[in-house]
Amino acid sequence: MPTRLLLGNEALAQGALDAGLSGAYAYPGTPSTEITAYLLRSREAAAQEIVCAWTANEKTALEAALGVSYAGKRAMATMKHVGLNVAADAFINSALTGVEGGLIINVADDPSMHSSQNEQDSRVYLDLAMMPCLEPADQQEAYDAPAIAFALSEKYRMPVLIRTLTRLSHSRATVEVGEPISRNAFGLPEDPKRFILLPALARKAYQKLLDLQPALLQEAEESPFTNYFEGSDHSLGLIACGIAYHYLREVVGEDCPYPILKIGQYPMPEGLVERMMSSCEQVMLFEEGFPYLERRLRGFPARTSPEILGRLTGHLPRTGELNPRHVAKALGAELPAIREASTTPAPRPPALCPGCPHIDTSNALNAIIKESGENGRVFSDIGCYTLAALPPYNTVDTCVEMGASITMAKGAAAAGLHPAIALIGDSTFTHSGMTGLLDCINENANVTVVIVDNLTVAMTGGQNSSARNRLAQICEGLGVNPEHIRIIEPLPNKHDENVAIVREEVAYTGTSVIIAERECIQTARRKARAQKSAGGTS
Ligand code: SF4
Repeated sequence: MPTRLLLGNEALAQGALDAGLSGAYAYPGTPSTEITAYLLRSREAAAQEIVCAWTANEKTALEAALGVSYAGKRAMATMKHVGLNVAADAFINSALTGVEGGLIINVADDPSMHSSQNEQDSRVYLDLAMMPCLEPADQQEAYDAPAIAFALSEKYRMPVLIRTLTRLSHSRATVEVGEPISRNAFGLPEDPKRFILLPALARKAYQKLLDLQPALLQEAEESPFTNYFEGSDHSLGLIACGIAYHYLREVVGEDCPYPILKIGQYPMPEGLVERMMSSCEQVMLFEEGFPYLERRLRGFPARTSPEILGRLTGHLPRTGELNPRHVAKALGAELPAIREASTTPAPRPPALCPGCPHIDTSNALNAIIKESGENGRVFSDIGCYTLAALPPYNTVDTCVEMGASITMAKGAAAAGLHPAIALIGDSTFTHSGMTGLLDCINENANVTVVIVDNLTVAMTGGQNSSARNRLAQICEGLGVNPEHIRIIEPLPNKHDENVAIVREEVAYTGTSVIIAERECIQTARRKARAQKSAGGTS
């Protein structure tokens, strides 16, 4: 079989392409972004006319993929773990409607919060949606997962979650790739009523979902991603999920005396787990993210036989990514010698790039907050501008989740805080800020919304913003008084002018919007390089 050196994310994208993908939608977010970026630059995807697009948010991505599936084609929606919160309504309900063409939902979790505001474990959503899930352990399994998931999805007419992790998404390995298949046939569902979740129909759909659970359990028991390795010493049994299986193998080697259960598909393979539980004195779990299975195996009250060991008992750290050192410590084993890097890279804390337009916006806001005395606050959203929370700017007072800036500012303004300034990016505004602005208009909230329009989704690598230079029109359409939609250019030589505009809008009683418009310098440089190289080759 031909091989390719691929990132985990690229392997998954290539696997989906080779498995007959027709439509892929995503909202960018680390560590998931490269899946869609790979598809967008793939010549194979273009040649096969595979529809691939960045969407306004994760919910719209999943709904579009569900539409492709409804029309009988294989579809994929991709997001990071917190994006699944945004898409949760569609996610949970799509398990009830079911699918026509195979539907994969890729969710990349980020334990240790390398680039995220929390380390939630997407497997918890399985308890709500009751859909199957694959958890690839390595790049080869990431490549193989879409074909398995599409087949599973079409067999049971169910979406399938593929859970990946930062360490897998962003590391490379050689992957054997198979022959691509084409599955581009259009076909509508035989029973279109199952896509109508009116209560009477939804009750039937829910019962059907419950009835499917034993079959999904059986699939997990027999999954190619799940293996039981018998051992000679039953004083301890080891259960490892996804990538943690390789950390375990790195420590115990291939001749481990203890039984090992590798889990790569959910629902939890209860039969195999019971086999280990009934034959071992102690069972230790290695799972990235939450102690999801560990909690379930411990039960309430915690069972005493076999003793369950893991993150909850302190044998492994409760938070953050696992690694072979953690595994070795938990097992009281020696870690095989690892070649240490001869030099340790100097830490590089995140910071706004020199010359970034957000610096000038922050400086203007700081001037106004200083004038306002103790009460002024800047409610931020999630993007590069959140880095203005750090010295020397210290501009930002809050950052909770996508879209929270405007609505938090509205609530604080209602509580008497002034000035209440919301700071939000162009892409985040169209992701989930617009509805908050509509609430502000409806309540005539006394807030100043600053949309920092750098004309791109900068933080995730410069994807196109869905705002597409229409922010003023959108704000006016939502009801903002056009006289209080102001455009500023965040540049050092415009500081005084910009401060004056912010001061005027903060003094206005009502909802105003200031659009700080200047392109991200990294995106501008990338575009210039691309233009230069296009010019050089023509
Ligand atoms: S990537 Fe762009 S928006 Fe982000 S800090 Fe750098 S210049 Fe600013």
